[in-house]
Amino acid sequence: MKDIKIDLSNVKEPFLDKSLSELGFVFNVSRSNDKITLDVGLSDLFYDGKEDFKNKIINEVLKQLPDIKIVEVNFKLGVVNHKNQQKEEILPGVKNTIAIASGKGGVGKSTVAVNIALALVQEGASVGLIDADIYGPSIPLMLNIYKKPAVAVINERKMLLPAEKYGLKIMSIGLLVDYDTAVVWRGPMASSALRQFMVDTHWGDLDFLLFDMPPGTGDIQLTLSQVIPLTGAIIITTPQEIAVADARKGHKMFEKVNVPTLGIVENMSYYNKGDGNRDYIFGKGGGKQLCEEYKLNFLGEIPISTMIREKGDEGSPIVYSLPDSEEARIFRNISKKIILDLNKRNSDTITNQDLEIIMEE
Ligand code: ADP
Repeated sequence: MKDIKIDLSNVKEPFLDKSLSELGFVFNVSRSNDKITLDVGLSDLFYDGKEDFKNKIINEVLKQLPDIKIVEVNFKLGVVNHKNQQKEEILPGVKNTIAIASGKGGVGKSTVAVNIALALVQEGASVGLIDADIYGPSIPLMLNIYKKPAVAVINERKMLLPAEKYGLKIMSIGLLVDYDTAVVWRGPMASSALRQFMVDTHWGDLDFLLFDMPPGTGDIQLTLSQVIPLTGAIIITTPQEIAVADARKGHKMFEKVNVPTLGIVENMSYYNKGDGNRDYIFGKGGGKQLCEEYKLNFLGEIPISTMIREKGDEGSPIVYSLPDSEEARIFRNISKKIILDLNKRNSDTITNQDLEIIMEE
């Protein structure tokens, strides 16, 4: 087996306006006698046209290498890196960093963060989750993790190892100090804890690192959103007017620090009454209206569901424990939209110069 290069600059990724070579979506090419095996990145592993796309790649390889008889293509989720110098320094193996934020508490931000993270894993992504909600770290409870993180020496540096559960890597202040200690922290302590979660934790290579932010739009939230080199923010709201008004403040806060709002998720949108009708307990359409007002992506609406609450309390979130449920499907759709949107944003910034770097590797 030896590594060889294949030029797929003629084959466009089906969801993006770039070729597989431009995107750096051709990996692990190896040859054994008359057979070539390669991994190819794709923005949606559940894409309907996957077989046709595979044949296109196979034909292109056969055209370039006439002595090859067999081409084996394995699809992997293709995630484009967000170019950001500060991110490369602080979190070098992480392609995208996303704040999960809310203007006010109690809208289900942490529940949504955990389920989106697990849905991204089910879409084929490598995902980390930092519980930056210093004043109410609920991620350990929602994932049933209690063990303190291990410490390892990596490249002569002492590093924290994130906890791992359901295919997710997790770090939370709740794993390091007890709840009562965390709640009396002031802003600078919160920032330095967060910095430690990024710099002194061995994350390895991740497609997405999610940050469950403290609710609100005060000084601490503003500071934390500057401490993290963010690719973008997702704001969680309920349809209720007061929650939407606070979500608007959240969007404006991120705008102030030049972090794009990737979209709005509306939680507790309706309750399925079981007779085919819906009860709009907290009102209707608030999230969508906010998106229209600011030209933001509406990522989805999540029902109020007993199972979402129960599975969260049990430490086994619905996306993981009931993957075939309607709720899990909604979370996966939101995750698909996030992946596609970030791939589009990030691939739009790929230049010819980057291309040379990819080809040189
Ligand atoms: P936040 O992080 O915004 O404070 P949480 O995620 O902790 O909110 O959720 C608050 C409570 O609401 C939790 O008990 C959680 O289980 C519940 N909850 C959140 N989203 C839903 C939902 N869609 N359906 C039912 N219960 C929910």
